[in-house]
Order: sequence, then C-alpha cells, then structure tokens
Amino acid sequence: MVKKKEFIIFFLLFLLALFFVYIYNDITKAKNDIFDRIENHQIEQISSVLQNIEKDIMDSSDIKTPDDLLYMFSNAAIRKRYEHIVSLMLTSNVKYAYILYKDDKDRFRFLLDASKSDKSEFYQKFDVTSPEYNTVYEEKKPQVIKQHDIENLYLTYLYPILSNGNVVGIFSIDITTNIQKIILESIKPLETFFAVLIIFILLLMSMTIMQIFHYFVTRKKIFTDPLTKTFNRNYLEEMSSMLNLEHYSLAMLDLDKFKIINDTYGHKAGDYVLSLASKIFKDSIRDSDILIRYGGEEFLLLINNRSNNKTNIDICERLRSNISKERFVYDGHEIKVHVSIGLHKHPSLEKNLQEAIKIADEMLYVAKKSGRNRVITYDEKEHTKTSSSTSSKDISFVKEALDEERVLCHFQPIYNHRSGEIFKYEALVRIVSKDNTIISPIQFLPQLKHTNMHYKLTQRILLIVFEKFKNNQKLVSININFSDLMNPDIEETIIKHLRENHHLASRVTFEILESDEIDDVELFKQKISLLHSLKAKVSIDDFGSGYSNFKTIIDVEANFLKIDGSLIKNIDTNNKDFRVVKSIIHFASQSNMQTIAEFVHSKDVYEKLLLLDIDYMQGFYISAPKATLVEKEELFKATF
Ligand code: GH3
Ligand code: MG
Ligand code: MG
Repeated sequence: MVKKKEFIIFFLLFLLALFFVYIYNDITKAKNDIFDRIENHQIEQISSVLQNIEKDIMDSSDIKTPDDLLYMFSNAAIRKRYEHIVSLMLTSNVKYAYILYKDDKDRFRFLLDASKSDKSEFYQKFDVTSPEYNTVYEEKKPQVIKQHDIENLYLTYLYPILSNGNVVGIFSIDITTNIQKIILESIKPLETFFAVLIIFILLLMSMTIMQIFHYFVTRKKIFTDPLTKTFNRNYLEEMSSMLNLEHYSLAMLDLDKFKIINDTYGHKAGDYVLSLASKIFKDSIRDSDILIRYGGEEFLLLINNRSNNKTNIDICERLRSNISKERFVYDGHEIKVHVSIGLHKHPSLEKNLQEAIKIADEMLYVAKKSGRNRVITYDEKEHTKTSSSTSSKDISFVKEALDEERVLCHFQPIYNHRSGEIFKYEALVRIVSKDNTIISPIQFLPQLKHTNMHYKLTQRILLIVFEKFKNNQKLVSININFSDLMNPDIEETIIKHLRENHHLASRVTFEILESDEIDDVELFKQKISLLHSLKAKVSIDDFGSGYSNFKTIIDVEANFLKIDGSLIKNIDTNNKDFRVVKSIIHFASQSNMQTIAEFVHSKDVYEKLLLLDIDYMQGFYISAPKATLVEKEELFKATF
C-alpha cells in the first residue's frame, strides 16, 4: 500500500521514542540515586561523630533532664570544650553546628553554637522553622530537614541527645553540599540532549500521524463517489492489482431506462433514485462484497464467494428484487425503478479484470435486450460442461488463434460489370488452424455471437484491414454487426484509424447486417451517422434475408444495399426471385443506394443479373476470396 512507508516510519519513531524515554528515565533515576547516596553518606559520617559526642556528654556528667544539660552547658569552660569538639565537624560542607535545648515553655534555646560565623549566644532563643524539631522529641529519633534547590542541597540533621529514653537536647547540624551541582553539571547536557531528542521525535511522530491522517481523509475523498457514497472507479483502479479474482464473482448493474426518470422528473429526481438505489444495493450486500459506481447509473459489484454459501446468483437476484420492491417517492411522485444485472461467475478465468468486466457487461447487454429487470449469468465452467464439445472447442480455438496471430483476412472482389473493373474488395475473416488449413467463419462465427471473443475478432480484422489498405488506392468492405458497433473498444479503434486518415476512411465501407437485433433504432442511427461523419460508407448486408425495416434503412442513408445470396443464387431459374430482386434494385435506386448482388456463382446467374440494373456483383463465378488482392486479369478464371 501507498502509506505502508509512513506506518513503518511511525512505528520506528515510536520505538526510538520509547528507547530514549527509557534512557532519560534511567539517567534521572541514577541522578536521584546518587543524590540519595551522597546524603546518606554525609549523614552517616556526622551521625557517628555525634554519637561519640553524645556518649562523651553522658559520660562526663549525670544528665537526666534537659535542665541538667542546661546546667552543664551553663559552665563556660565545659561549653568551650564541647564547642571545640563539635567544631571539629565543621568543614566546607558543614558550616553550622549547635546544640539546642527545649525549655519548659517549649521554646528552643542555644546551649552551644560551634559555628564559625553568625555565632549565637548561650541560652539565646532559637526560632524553629520546621516541625521536625518537635518530631525529634516525639519520636526520639534523628530527623532530616531537606531543602533542595536546583543546584545545592541543604540538609539540617537533627540528632537527639537521649538520657534514659528521653530527649534532653538536640544536635542541629546544617549541611550544604554543592556536589550535586557538579554532578548535575555533567549529567545535564546528557539529560537535555535526550529531552531534546525525545521532543524532536515526538514532533516527527505527530507530523507522520498528520500525514497519515491527511492521507486517509484525501483517500476517502478520492475513492468515494460523492452522490452515492459508494467507491468510485479510482478505487477500482487502485485495488485492481491487489484483487484476487478467484475470491469474487463480478456483476455489472445498470438501472433500467434511467434516462426516462431524468427526462420525466428532472435530474434531481434522478440523483435521488441513484442514491437510494445504491443504498439498497449496499444494504443488500455483505461487508466483504465491494460495490463501485462504475459510470452514470452503472455499478460494478464484486461478490465475495468465500464468506457465504449463498450463490452469487441469489445475491444478484436479491438486489434486483429489493430494487423492484422499494418505493421510490420523489416530490410526491412514485417512481418505479428496476435494475438489470450481468453476472460473471468466474472472472478469474479471464486474462484480467478488464476482460471479466467486459463479459459481465455483455451479460448486462443481454439482460437489457431480453426485457430488462433480470439477471443474466455467464458461467464459463458450466458452459463448457453443458454446451456441445465442438462449440466449446471452437471458442477456445478462436482464443488460441487470436493469441497466436493466426487470424487473417481473405479478400473477395466486388465487380463493376459496367466498367469491367474491380470496384472494391470484401474482407472476410479466416483462421489458420494449427495444421495450416484455412477454417472458414461458418465454423466458428455462430458460436461466438455475444461473446467477448466476437469483439476481439472484429477488432483484429479492423486492424488487419486498416493496415493493409492504408497506403493503397483500393476500396474495401468490412463486416460489422450491431453489437460490434455498440462496443466502445471497436468504436474507439474505428475513430482512431479513420479520423486521422481521411484517405483511408473514404475507401472503407462497413457492411452491417440488418437484423432484428437492432431494437434501439435511434442508437443504431447514431452509430451509422458516426461512420458517415468519418467519411466512411455504409452498406446494408444480406438485404432481403429476414425482417427488414425499410424506414430505418432509408433513415440511415446507407450507400449500398447488398442483396442476400438466397435471392440471387437461383435467380436464373426462379422468376419470383428475379422479380423481388428487380424491385429491390428499384427501391434502392429510388433511395439513392447502389446495389450489390452476392452469391454470383455461375455464368447463368451472372448473365441474368446483367438484365437488371444491378450496380456490382460478387461471387465465385467472378472470383473466390483470396489471401491477396486479385487483379482484374485474374477474374472469371474459375472452372466449374
Ligand atoms: P438502459 O435501460 O438501457 O440502461 O437505459 P438507460 O436510460 O438507463 O441508460 P442510458 O445510458 O441511456 O442513460 C443513462 C442516463 O443516466 C444518462 C445520464 O444523463 C444519466 N446520468 C448519469 N449520471 C447521472 C447522475 O449522476 N445523476 C443523474 N440524475 N443522472 C445521471
Ligand atoms: Mg440504464
Ligand atoms: Mg447505462
């Protein structure tokens, strides 16, 4: 994933920060530990000296009460002596040392002051500032008064002078040490260094978090369709490389006749229907399924086939019926909404996601054609099982032939009998089998109808023909059917090649089979006018073979009518056919179309056609289709 890097960086920073906090903590702990040890060491030293002095006092006279002690120290000589003894403790760290006494009014008074400066007088009052002075009397144990400032340590050590378990006086020793200052001075840079480092890492971490956060916010925006709140195509592109198609079935969903909703109730109503429909879709699927708004009112659904035993057809069916059941009410109008679904059960069998989508799209197309509001499923596995062995084999051999470049075109001349020249060539698809025999389209085209392979084949033929004719002066006809014309890839190929080469475009005719497949006449007309706009020509193929809508044919302004072979092949003997062809030719000339007779297989047919006002002829009698473009000298050489 894109942001994997940021996550790793964040994690590493986090570990680093933890490590530094641990070190910082250790340094602080060590510092306090050292301070404590120094303190204890000082106190121990002083305490043992005081013990000795206490012992000495007790030994030298019989002290039982505080007043005994007062009495003892009222003697100036004794006081002097002990002042001297106590003053031996004075060092650069111990500046003040004195013995205190608590009088009967609980006031502390100096018995002795061994300090070098600010010396107090005997019996002078001592103002107590801390409760510890009294605590010594209560607990009969030494007390320590600590006064920390940042650099120095001030300690007052209070040591009781005990007689028979009673406190008769206290030693008060003030200790000042600047050793901490020295230690602090050496440790501080280290401490500061780590503190700064930690702050720096925390800053980096918050920047990374912000980046990740920002990424997720933008990611959500980029990958979400604002109207339906489903994923959009950006998301599909992003995840398609990571998607394991084996775990999914793929469905294309398209709301039926949605344009009419827009046209009738307005765009806002359309938006409302879209957002409610996608909510119904979302509510009808599971968390493991992925819904993507693929285009306007078209959704792509990836159905996870691992987390549920329900078949994916059931899920599609549920979606379809949930939409049909729902009441869509907008502005007081109840709108009926239906959805058509094309399902590809095993998309992993396709080369890639795009191919699988195409097939689901084709199924959707079939669903639309067969009446809408239904699910049409494509199951290649079942297809292989149920269809006859030859047809499934046929499809796979076309696939192989496409992959191995064994698809080619043969060209049959279309003859202008009036000028004696070849008017143009019709490109006809051929497949070369692995043992080098030519396979004609009758053996594979019917099975390919509505499969993706059909589009691929058309696409390939277009490319072969465009390449072959782009630099010569000859004219060419290419067969294409209605569903080919609807295929966006095919349309793109045609536009790309013909728009940039007008000379080629003006020499290309598209022969379109006029069949009952064309249910959307408007769309058909649009596509034909696109071909016209590119300067290509249009021929109606196999005219007269089935249901023909004369109005459509006139409306699309085709350039040629190719009369179906079934009407031509017996024209020399069948008078009825002759009359039909005659009237077709008449109709065509009235409608500004030129006529072509196909299946001209004999001299008799050829000569019979000369009696009519037919424009061009094509058939084995004139020339069979050949791999090369035959010249006029090679015509009429067939022997029967
Ligand atoms: P079919 O049953 O064949 O699918 O017909 P249809 O009318 O649903 O399909 P068609 O593709 O002809 O029309 C789709 C319309 O959806 C055309 C477009 O203007 C409209 N559309 C696309 N996106 C939006 C949108 O976001 N909001 C609205 N209100 N309409 C949209
Ligand atoms: Mg639609
Ligand atoms: Mg549509």
